[in-house]
Amino acid sequence: MHRLARDVVELELAPEDRPLIHEAGQFVYLTPRDGTLQAGCGEEHPYTLASAPQASHLRIGIKDLGDASHALQTVAPGSRVELEGPYGGFLPQHPPRRNVLWLGGGIGITPSSARREALPRARRPTDAPT
Ligand SMILES: Cc1cc2nc3c(=O)[nH]c(=O)nc-3n(C[C@H](O)[C@H](O)[C@H](O)COP(=O)(O)OP(=O)(O)OC[C@H]3O[C@@H](n4cnc5c(N)ncnc54)[C@H](O)[C@@H]3O)c2cc1C
Repeated sequence: MHRLARDVVELELAPEDRPLIHEAGQFVYLTPRDGTLQAGCGEEHPYTLASAPQASHLRIGIKDLGDASHALQTVAPGSRVELEGPYGGFLPQHPPRRNVLWLGGGIGITPSSARREALPRARRPTDAPT
């Protein structure tokens, strides 16, 4: 787990079984299975996958907005979570014909993070800042 801001942590998840195949911009339902959590154990909440599809570990940025997301701010390393998904298609998966400008802010930046991380690996020219 990495703290990205006062009220945002990033969880890094390693698969126990088979890796989850996803596209940039998709989300999962995350269900914590850690009974020591103050709240949210066994509760599913939607979160965007912020890591690139090719990354070996999944990363999810979680903003402290309510009881379940607050509890995850201090989740213990090694805790187990279950993921269901991926779902959604926030970003187009084919290269656009024209230049595009991405605007993102706050925790809403997570779909763009996944796509930006994937771009250099796709070896396409881009002006995206790194
Ligand atoms: C597709 C999708 C992707 C998402 N991706 C991310 C992500 O990458 N990162 C992330 O941090 N979040 C993401 N979210 C949001 C995330 O799912 C929620 O922040 C999380 O489920 C909140 O759960 P909670 O129990 O902590 O908070 P809740 O207790 O559910 O509260 C969340 C917010 O709603 C307000 N609220 C709750 N009940 C009421 C009410 N009755 N009236 C008014 N306001 C109320 C609370 O004050 C708080 O601000 C995503 C949501 C969706 C739908």
